[in-house]
Amino acid sequence: MIDLYSDTKTKPTRPMLDTMIAAEVGDSQLGQDPAVNALCKRVADLMGMEQAIFLPSGTMCNQIAIRIHANAGDEVLCHETAHIIHSEAGGIGGLTGANTRGLGGARGQFAPEALAKLMRPGSQYAPKSAVVVVEQTSNFGGGSIWPLERIEKISALTKSAGAALHMDGARLLNAVVASGVSAADYCKPFDSAWIDFTKALGAPLGAVLVGSQGFIEEAKRWRQMFGGALRQAGVCAAACDYALDHNVERLAEDHAAATYLAERISNMPGLALDEMPETNIVLFKANGALQPTQVIEAAKEAGVSIGYMAPVSRLRLIPHINYGMTDFKKAADALENAMAKLVKNNA
Ligand SMILES: *Cc1c(COP(=O)(O)O)cnc(C)c1O
Repeated sequence: MIDLYSDTKTKPTRPMLDTMIAAEVGDSQLGQDPAVNALCKRVADLMGMEQAIFLPSGTMCNQIAIRIHANAGDEVLCHETAHIIHSEAGGIGGLTGANTRGLGGARGQFAPEALAKLMRPGSQYAPKSAVVVVEQTSNFGGGSIWPLERIEKISALTKSAGAALHMDGARLLNAVVASGVSAADYCKPFDSAWIDFTKALGAPLGAVLVGSQGFIEEAKRWRQMFGGALRQAGVCAAACDYALDHNVERLAEDHAAATYLAERISNMPGLALDEMPETNIVLFKANGALQPTQVIEAAKEAGVSIGYMAPVSRLRLIPHINYGMTDFKKAADALENAMAKLVKNNA
């Protein structure tokens, strides 16, 4: 089975595991884990922010950041396809007690003009817009890259309204590698941001949240309350450090593979490609009378695992580090044959 369901499916390689075994560890809850401390320093520098905190997951990075930026009764603004709306189990309502307002717009991105119309200071009746969240890259937007110009316009709006700007940077480094814009330049307009190591970077777990010193101090308290303060987390931080050394530049290979797979899909019967990918995510749909579940089943029988993203009604595949071009060719051939058969049997 060639598993292209997600870049979360990456498994640690032998050299990464060796690095984990060799990590120098301590009690990271007390700030005494050398591997965790080194990783935090490295990521803060990479992202051009004052300080960083190591967390078990990207979801916890989002939830802690939102909890700090917003109070109960405030509102969070983001794109209507955002991970924080669809894939975090209602955490914003559950943990912060804030409303969420989703904005529309192509490829998972909203326009600054649309945001300007919705932002509000709060009143006797209306909630206060406390934080705006930008997902870089947009997952359900097909891995689209938010242009820096657009982010800067959004940042000017949030600043003048006294709201915070937070980046869900699960795939920020994909944007960095594809665009040539540095992580620090992308992060500059933001009050907080994070990157995920368990996606295309290939680590088994871990995410790092960055912000000002005061923000990270607060984050430590919420980390404790949310149960994310780990002990000898250095074994995991070492894998993340290894990923920064070895797995960043190679994201370009995933991007090339995504482009290849998208081109192949655009020529397959029964499938319609959304748009050519800018990074590593390929979104497409089943044509005509075909149901997405039929496509997923046919692909599975042919040895290819793909996903269905219900919030955007799209099939999705993501090439990643555990495979090479030979596998992707094989996967495309198998999917093409399966689709030809499926379309014929469905006629
Ligand atoms: C995967 C993902 C997350 C959550 O990260 P986890 O580490 O799986 O909790 C958040 N936002 C986006 C855009 C993601 O793709």
